[in-house]
Amino acid sequence: MEFAHCFNIKKTALAGLSLEELTDMLKPLPAFRAKQIFRWLMRGVRSFNDMTDISFAVREALEKRFSLYSSVISQRLSDNDGTVKIQLALEDGRTIESVLLSDGKERKTACISTQVGCAMGCVFCKTGRIGFKRNVSAGEIIEQFLHLRSIAAFSNVVIMGMGEPLLNLPALREALAFVSGGGIGVAGGAFSKRRITVSTGGITAGICDLADNGPDIRLAVSLTTADESLREKLMPVTKTNPLPLLKKALLYYQRKNLNRITLEAALLRNINTSRKHVDLLAEFAQGLDVAVNVIPWNPVAGLRFEGAPLQEPEKAEVEQFIAALQRKGVNVTARFKKGRGVAGACGQLG
Ligand code: SF4
Repeated sequence: MEFAHCFNIKKTALAGLSLEELTDMLKPLPAFRAKQIFRWLMRGVRSFNDMTDISFAVREALEKRFSLYSSVISQRLSDNDGTVKIQLALEDGRTIESVLLSDGKERKTACISTQVGCAMGCVFCKTGRIGFKRNVSAGEIIEQFLHLRSIAAFSNVVIMGMGEPLLNLPALREALAFVSGGGIGVAGGAFSKRRITVSTGGITAGICDLADNGPDIRLAVSLTTADESLREKLMPVTKTNPLPLLKKALLYYQRKNLNRITLEAALLRNINTSRKHVDLLAEFAQGLDVAVNVIPWNPVAGLRFEGAPLQEPEKAEVEQFIAALQRKGVNVTARFKKGRGVAGACGQLG
């Protein structure tokens, strides 16, 4: 038996350890065994028993001393459009949600959470109502990748689940270094940073930090509106990160990083869809290499603004908004309404 007598350590989750850490952890198992186990972990294996090229005795010994993950999937919901939302119960009993979005064809995108709850309080977002509970650790971010990976391979990642990622940048950096460092990509190779997008509510210090220190991933900003006073009410982060400062940070970012930035505009009926908002948005986009991603707001029961329930925009309202932006020469895309059936769409997590 390769190692049965030898562990002197308490039960530890193995997923999320680097190959070197895993090799150390599993000593005196030989390095080639650790490598086999690492490969299984990177595929999102669900149990030690699924590691079919590992002997039964070793699997049994692993099972006794280690767990695969520190989190468990406590709920899994599938939408007719192919979206799958999972709720993860973390070691301390808190929960987060992660989503596998599908375009109905081949392309799948993983949506990852970086905080339990969120302190930002955007009025149109369910997570914002929970308030901030704690940051998600690097290991817990990696585990979201692996849990989703066990459901289906995905080619793109968006860090826009629960929480403000740029307020948990150290853990995010550590996790992304791991997933882009090898093993977890579609074909078993490294996951390309080019296929990872981080979305911020507009934390200017975080944007500059990202520009200076990487990682070199794609950046999206949840702008919603370029009307400063309205944005202050919809996204309180604006009070400490006003739009002129945000624009400055984006210009700085773009001097260092050639990637096009996405400005996300969640459209709320009769609130941020008028001609004035088109003009202000086009003005904000000037001088930046950006594409505006228009997202008709995904309904969340109970969310209100200035005393009235928020409503999703009408189809014509969205079309007019897009057409007016395009006439001003702005690059515009529209996001699919994916995952609504399982409350897994943008702004519905929590
Ligand atoms: S939209 Fe993003 S930043 Fe705003 S409250 Fe929701 S999770 Fe937080």
